[in-house]
Amino acid sequence: MTGSTVGGAEDYHGGTDEPPPHVDTPLPMRSRVNEQFGNQRDTSRPVLPEPLPSPVVDNHCHLDIEDGESWLEPGEALRLAASVGVPRIVQIGCDLPGAAWAVRIAEQYDDIVAGVAIHPNEAPRLDDIGELSAGIAEIEQLAGSSQRVRAIGETGLDYYRTGPEGHAAQHRSFAAHIELAHRLGKTLVIHDRDAHDDVLALLDEHGTPERTVLHCFSGDVEFARECLDRGAYLSFAGTVTFKNAAYLRVALAAAPLDRILVETDAPFLAPMPHRGRPNSSYLVPTTVRAMAEVREMDLEELCRALNANTDTAFGGSWGTGR
Ligand SMILES: [Zn+2]
Ligand SMILES: [Zn+2]
Repeated sequence: MTGSTVGGAEDYHGGTDEPPPHVDTPLPMRSRVNEQFGNQRDTSRPVLPEPLPSPVVDNHCHLDIEDGESWLEPGEALRLAASVGVPRIVQIGCDLPGAAWAVRIAEQYDDIVAGVAIHPNEAPRLDDIGELSAGIAEIEQLAGSSQRVRAIGETGLDYYRTGPEGHAAQHRSFAAHIELAHRLGKTLVIHDRDAHDDVLALLDEHGTPERTVLHCFSGDVEFARECLDRGAYLSFAGTVTFKNAAYLRVALAAAPLDRILVETDAPFLAPMPHRGRPNSSYLVPTTVRAMAEVREMDLEELCRALNANTDTAFGGSWGTGR
């Protein structure tokens, strides 16, 4: 299937039993360093790019996952990002401790809002120990506990990391998260890896929520049209800069300007020329510049559109850096 190899092993796959750290002394929830790449990776941080002419939001990142030579704590990650025109962030929690952490951080920083869910690769693990239903109930409770939670996500399907034996749990979890987004009026953030057809089928079965984002969009132009027909936003990550992802650039070029977003999925998926190195929200400008080139449009005009789209996609503006 198109796009199955983009990103390689660079993706979050859930699974930690550590308790959430105290909010005043945030600690990384999980480490990516050498976890998948041994000592082969360049773990040095790329330098700051040139600032954007107009602010843009990073609508999907994982501040809780440590990478590089030292962890960028949320305040520092936000400060660096703001210095290059990325003053606001959507922090995505992928398992129960991560979701609780995301809510706390969003409560602490005006410029950060949260998404909470059980990641599709975490769902089978919880199901195996008989805790999936309770986990989803806890996500519902967390999502309803704070106005700072704007999104239910990332949820969805991942057939790349999870084999057929885990698909039933993923379907059940995704369906429950879709229902949750409807019930709570939150944005649905979808993780879709090698599962385009089934993602569409489940959306059709349960109804696509009014605000739905295909995070790290990984399909071709036909799949993009299917998502757009259902009213979804397409969020582009560093993968859109990868050499082997021409089909993503075709999809990006064809998408309406008011339906596209940008994200890092940090610390994963650093854009070219930094592929494989630690990603962070301050690298959004590198991806946005590549997107402007693909769309052959003025950079500032694209920034304004991306910023406005993010506000609409996540239920209104937030924070100070608009
Ligand atoms: Zn994802
Ligand atoms: Zn993610």
